[in-house]
Amino acid sequence: MRREAAYEPVIGLEVHAQLLTRTKLFCRCPARYGAEPNTLVCPVCLGLPGALPAVNGEAVAMAVRLGTALGCRIAPASVFARKNYFYPDCPRNYQITMYDAPLCEGGALEYDAPEGPRLVELERIHLEDDAGKLLHRPAARSLVDFNRCGVPLVEIVTRPVLGDPSDAALFLQNLRRLLRWLGICDGNLEEGSMRCDVNVSLRTPGSRRLGTRTEIKNLNSFKAVEAGIRLEIARQRKVLEGGGEIERQTSLWNARRRELVVMRSKEEARDYRYFPEPDLPPLEVRAELVERERSRLPELPLARERRLRAEYGLPAYDAGVLCAERGIADYFERAVRAGAEPKEGANWVMREVLASLRERGGRIEEFAVSPDDLARLVRLVSDGAISRTAGTEVFREMLRTGEEPGAVVGRLGLELLADPRRLEMMVDAVIAANPGEAARFRGGKRQLLEFFVGQVMKESGGTADPRLARDLIERRLAPGGGER
Ligand SMILES: [Zn+2]
Repeated sequence: MRREAAYEPVIGLEVHAQLLTRTKLFCRCPARYGAEPNTLVCPVCLGLPGALPAVNGEAVAMAVRLGTALGCRIAPASVFARKNYFYPDCPRNYQITMYDAPLCEGGALEYDAPEGPRLVELERIHLEDDAGKLLHRPAARSLVDFNRCGVPLVEIVTRPVLGDPSDAALFLQNLRRLLRWLGICDGNLEEGSMRCDVNVSLRTPGSRRLGTRTEIKNLNSFKAVEAGIRLEIARQRKVLEGGGEIERQTSLWNARRRELVVMRSKEEARDYRYFPEPDLPPLEVRAELVERERSRLPELPLARERRLRAEYGLPAYDAGVLCAERGIADYFERAVRAGAEPKEGANWVMREVLASLRERGGRIEEFAVSPDDLARLVRLVSDGAISRTAGTEVFREMLRTGEEPGAVVGRLGLELLADPRRLEMMVDAVIAANPGEAARFRGGKRQLLEFFVGQVMKESGGTADPRLARDLIERRLAPGGGER
């Protein structure tokens, strides 16, 4: 047996996702990112004596939406609990979370992995409030911003079922996609609106008993998740192979140095002294709310991805790219309904549309070229009215001016040049200007055909019919074809 196979990793994830509610979980302060420090606070989220929390119904609805999308059991009554700890980011000295009676239990996230369909079972999902943020300044000074105190979070806990670091990263990407798809979290790992903690243990293959697990916090990118888990697996393996024992510990990922730093060991393990939150009654979720959220669920990303493949014959890769965001899938399907051939439409969305979105920023919903206009453009190209090269130029003009494609084609004179007489003249001019290449082509260097086609396209300002141009060049440069 290979030495590396002596232990297999077992990975579980705890993901915190900030809900996109207007207000915080227990007060009416705006739940907004990026405001001036300590401007979005009130006695409730500052934990002042006598201030009483009241649950935000929008946050409950969003958590229920997520639970129904993941097939969880939604508890008709769940219980908020106090998790006691002392730290400057938490002015109340306790977090309000859920402990032994969470909002959602069970369920699973399903997605297509490269090796096939994957189903990752979940332990639970619960609601809790976020802590403030410490800003560490030089000269050992730290500042605290309480704006984030009380912002609603869902904590999504998987069962320990993930087998390796890339498996964990893929799960997270798919979870992030679902959260964004449902409009309940923006999934921004860098800004911390989605955060991931990892539990890792090793066991001998086939053994049902889990080894002692350690925890990694602060993993703020998919790459960090993979790299952090990889380091921790290597560390544990080394300890076990040296005859040692794994001790419970929590480490932090240091993104700058790309290493794990032990934050606390077993002796420092915290006792949070959980108890039911006395200021809040049990959270009742009526069957009507669950039904309402379930009935309003959009077609979920996996189902959509599979449908795009089946209905339009798209390759798995294309369907995956188009379903990365609900808005992109919507845009694509609107273009197809407006007459774009599906595979051609997919190509235009994946190349031109996504590239210019990346370049210019902004949301697909407000994209300057409407799906209807894109469909018109795709048809101009596939009907052979303009060349693909001219199409790209038309697209750029549409972005700039908002014109419809026909108008741009007319204004710039981009109709396909398919007049053999005029094309012949261009071909002859190009051959005459490149006698060396022409001689090498005749000598057998066939790859130069593309060079000549490119020259003719350039000469014609991208309007030449490439098929016709290619034919003419081949005829002119064929043995015995001769130039006039
Ligand atoms: Zn407040």
